[in-house]
Amino acid sequence: MSSSSTDPYADVVWDDAVAPPDEWAPPEDGWMPPPDESSSPRRASGRVVPGADPVAVLREVYGYAAFRGDQAAIIDQVVGGGDAVVLMPTGGGKSVTYQVPALVREGTGLVVSPLIALMHDQVDALRANGVRAAYLNSTQTPPERADVERAYANGELDMLYVAPERLNLAQTTALLRRGRLSVIAIDEAHCVSQWGHDFRPDYLALGDLDERFPGVPRMALTATATRATHRELTERLRLPDAKHYVASFDRPNIQYRIEPKVEPRKQLVQFIRSQHEGSAGIVYALSRKSVDQTAEYLRGQGIDALAYHAGLDASVRARHQSRFLREDGVVMVATIAFGMGIDKPDVRFVAHIDMPKSVEGYYQETGRAGRDGEPSVAWMAYGLGDVVQQRRLIDASPGDRTFKMRLGQHLDAMLALCETVGCRRQNLLGYFGETSEPCGNCDTCLQAPETWDGLVPAQKLLSTIVRLQRERGQAYGAGHLVDILRGANTERIVRFGHERLATYGIGADLSDQDWRSVIRQLLARGILVATGEYGTLALGDAAAGVLRGETDVPLRRDVLGRGGSRSSDRARKAAASEALDPADRDLFEALRSWRGGVAREAGVPAYVVFNDATLRALAEHRPASVDALDGISGIGAKKREAYGEAVLEVIAAAG
Ligand code: ADP
Ligand code: ZN
Repeated sequence: MSSSSTDPYADVVWDDAVAPPDEWAPPEDGWMPPPDESSSPRRASGRVVPGADPVAVLREVYGYAAFRGDQAAIIDQVVGGGDAVVLMPTGGGKSVTYQVPALVREGTGLVVSPLIALMHDQVDALRANGVRAAYLNSTQTPPERADVERAYANGELDMLYVAPERLNLAQTTALLRRGRLSVIAIDEAHCVSQWGHDFRPDYLALGDLDERFPGVPRMALTATATRATHRELTERLRLPDAKHYVASFDRPNIQYRIEPKVEPRKQLVQFIRSQHEGSAGIVYALSRKSVDQTAEYLRGQGIDALAYHAGLDASVRARHQSRFLREDGVVMVATIAFGMGIDKPDVRFVAHIDMPKSVEGYYQETGRAGRDGEPSVAWMAYGLGDVVQQRRLIDASPGDRTFKMRLGQHLDAMLALCETVGCRRQNLLGYFGETSEPCGNCDTCLQAPETWDGLVPAQKLLSTIVRLQRERGQAYGAGHLVDILRGANTERIVRFGHERLATYGIGADLSDQDWRSVIRQLLARGILVATGEYGTLALGDAAAGVLRGETDVPLRRDVLGRGGSRSSDRARKAAASEALDPADRDLFEALRSWRGGVAREAGVPAYVVFNDATLRALAEHRPASVDALDGISGIGAKKREAYGEAVLEVIAAAG
């Protein structure tokens, strides 16, 4: 594979501005001008006329008023025959950028997609909008595949989805040459990156698509935010002449909240209860055991929770995933094995009961909330145990020193995010090189954390560690050190004679919980380091200044359930219906239950029928005629025809 020597960043269109929140809201509050009938982009057959105006296609097929962000520019570039590399956060609207060119250009759009489940849902969603879409994969019988192949060769498909391994077969190349391709879109393009978190070897072979299908514009799309991956995928997929579109990675509809971990399962239940009843969510835990136990605990609390991890039978995993995708309001408790390609747009919350290894992991995982742009919450409980456990995992990992050092840096950045007294979003975006203002939609912005002077407690702790080390050559973990400081009378203290230490009992003014908070924060700042299998604490590089009293140690005061006041109102708004007037809420719920029935009957996920934003617009504007439905975002011609009457009945019945 050749690699290009040109700098892929030479002509990057950096979108520095953080997109203003209203750019992400449904256009004009759900309303848009009715389409101009005289310029319909479709033929009577339903086929979009090649060369049609992209905006007309967006309105007619998707029922959306206008492109947002870079969508129009990207579509222009590809419709004109150029290549494009698109970095856009989850929910940014990447699909439209390859689907519209596929509809507007002569031929069939080919989409390379890594997950079969994802393919099915995308094809269902496209068909619901009247687009002639199909996929080729191993779940089909040979006759089913033959049908799709015939339709493709006859030019009867607008879009065809395939997995990379299938595309790499010689017979698939031969088949595709029998028809005409309009565009090739490589979705989840970061999978080509060997060092990334989702590497798939089959992606490497996609580097020669330009030779296999000369003249067909190619697009690489991903929600990855790092420069290294960007550079790598541009080279490996051989896109030296592509235009690059890098959007802001802000997800303004996601509210970030991080609270200290005390009783994680209870806190989790409390958090889930603070959400709108029946919200779909994902709970991430580190170990399989913890996943199983948490799911069971939630079910015991009456929450519809399922488990997902690599230790479960494939059939169980598939069943749980399908329930999560298709039903309303299922909570999936999972390890990180559950994630990529979870295309469900109406996940209302992502909760972490264990801290992720890196800010990137946190961003990816929390990013699965609110793909539809509706208010959502990313919630995490984090504690001292997380820090110790992560350190232990790094120490025990098989890599060399440099590798471990890098893991250590990832962890430090994650800790800094957890302990910041500033805006969480600012910290998060800063990690990806974006500058921004305090967001007003994270826990620290909603309720500024109180700080207190932690210098003296820090000195007491450090000096205890130093004495134990110097006088007795001993090192201990947090639990025992806190016992010494608080003057506890444990068997261990007596056995080692630690009550004779000069610092014994000098920290009785702080509670156990306070001390753990102090230690956590000192770890996050490199004043302390945790080492070894038992997480014994030692002085960090920044400790000397503290011992000499030269470094200020402002600490964040832990507050539990920070959702308490204002923030919980905002958080509850995270349910689409709660953003509504109480009067409209009942109608929203009625529409939601109607949607559930239709989706079950058709065997498709609820959002394929209508997404939450569309239901909300319907509940607010209560259109009374089929014509008035044209004003609702997300209702294109096909859905108006399929569901229009039924929706009007639900609205009429609600009075
Ligand atoms: P991504 O693939 O980048 O995660 P999607 O393509 O799934 O994002 O789009 C996210 C959501 O936004 C979907 O519900 C999609 O239909 C909607 N959407 C995309 N473009 C527009 C637009 N121009 N106007 C309104 N909604 C849009
Ligand atoms: Zn903020």
